[in-house]
Amino acid sequence: MKYCSECAHPVTYQVPEGDNRERAVCDQCGTIHYVNPRIIAGTLPVYQNQILLCKRAIEPRKGYWTLPAGFMEQGETLEQGAARETQEEAGIDITCGQLLSSISVPHISQVHIFFLANMENAEHAVSTSESLAVKLFDVDNIPWDEIAFPTVKKTLQFYLD
Ligand code: ZN
Repeated sequence: MKYCSECAHPVTYQVPEGDNRERAVCDQCGTIHYVNPRIIAGTLPVYQNQILLCKRAIEPRKGYWTLPAGFMEQGETLEQGAARETQEEAGIDITCGQLLSSISVPHISQVHIFFLANMENAEHAVSTSESLAVKLFDVDNIPWDEIAFPTVKKTLQFYLD
């Protein structure tokens, strides 16, 4: 960042007293801007012996298959965020079940967290511009070579194990 979010004065990068890493510090109002990892919440929706995947309509990894997931919003719980993203990307209303995976991705400062979600019926839809397709796959038919992200692949493996 270049400018203070409080007063718009230019910031400088320095280690604040008592801290141990550089932060963007405002020389005018003294605000220290902390930047922390972001949380991606999602689900692994299951109907009978099938797993629901979404084909990404946007970069990165456009055209590859992924589980419904996205950035948590302010004021929601992990489970609410995961359920909201599942509704937005796959058009299904689910309740989060057990936690399946919680994976740190430090090189991009993210944490990816997935819950199991049992679908009450097979209905689903491409409900946003984020998905090109939404499909139920038999567990023997997962497109392993076309999975968008390593954390999605790991989560699928955790579930199948
Ligand atoms: Zn300031």
